[in-house]
Amino acid sequence: KLGADSSINEVEINEQSIEDNRKQIEVRRCLEIAIAQNRTEVFLQPIVDATTHKVIGAEALCRIRDNDGKIISPGLFIPIAERNGHITALGEQMFEKACKFVSENNIEQYGMEWVNVNVSTIQFMQHNLADRFEEILKKYKLSPEVIHLELTEAAMVEENLMDSQIRNLQEKGFYLVVDDYGTGHSNISRIKKYPFINIKLDMSLVWDYVKKPGVIVPRMVQAFKETGYTVTAEGIETKEMAIALKECGCNYLQGMLFSMPIPVDEFLEYVKNY
Ligand code: C2E
Ligand code: MG
Ligand code: MG
Ligand code: MG
Repeated sequence: KLGADSSINEVEINEQSIEDNRKQIEVRRCLEIAIAQNRTEVFLQPIVDATTHKVIGAEALCRIRDNDGKIISPGLFIPIAERNGHITALGEQMFEKACKFVSENNIEQYGMEWVNVNVSTIQFMQHNLADRFEEILKKYKLSPEVIHLELTEAAMVEENLMDSQIRNLQEKGFYLVVDDYGTGHSNISRIKKYPFINIKLDMSLVWDYVKKPGVIVPRMVQAFKETGYTVTAEGIETKEMAIALKECGCNYLQGMLFSMPIPVDEFLEYVKNY
């Protein structure tokens, strides 16, 4: 009897993994087409001042579509892009589209100062990264302080490479942000070695804190601020969360309470009417 049961389970597991495989292949195909045809899309999510709730910046987040035009989540295609090396081309397209957005729209009139772009670890390790970004900025006649680069701690890989890559970006005037802080090997002394300007607390940390407030998060925020960083809390979904994280000392808030990531034209409507 046991034997029969386990073979049924095996069949089910195999069918599931075949289904997963099909999905993966489908996502991969859509990803490759989107990149080849430069059809990766920028969605923007507002980042607001924690006190006034005025939009001060935005994060550019990548979207691609399946054959029916439905949006595929980055949770599905980013890992694939990182595995097959397409993440560098994807990241450049996002950087360029963020530049295009800033150059075509006078964002200052809405009180906005910058747009954040995500840089994957694999993209970050490209030796010509800083030159590529600089070329694109020149094409759009922008200065580097309008496009901030979000790096996760996983990007703080090999010490020597990290040092030279950061130096290159810093020499060219780029502003660097730590993304997803608190999701693992968080190492403040490591971060302090580099000229980051802003720390983004991962939403898991934010949610844990709101569920069970304690002294750790507020002390951490204070320590960051004393060191000269500004701090952003991600994943703000309710008014209560906005209040709690502001009281922790966070400078900026980002999350569903304000808006989820939305297409560029909707984002412009949003900031115009805000
Ligand atoms: P991330 O950079 O940490 O971006 C924040 C993610 O949190 C976004 O997910 C955003 O939609 C989501 N989020 C924001 N506020 C809330 C909230 O209040 N509640 C909830 N539940 N979620 C919220 P998204 O757009 O699905 O992106 C997921 C991840 O994929 C990003 O995390 C980033 O690591 C990666 N990613 C997205 N676009 C790019 C890109 O252009 N380049 C690279 N390298 N990675 C990207
Ligand atoms: Mg990010
Ligand atoms: Mg993040
Ligand atoms: Mg994240």
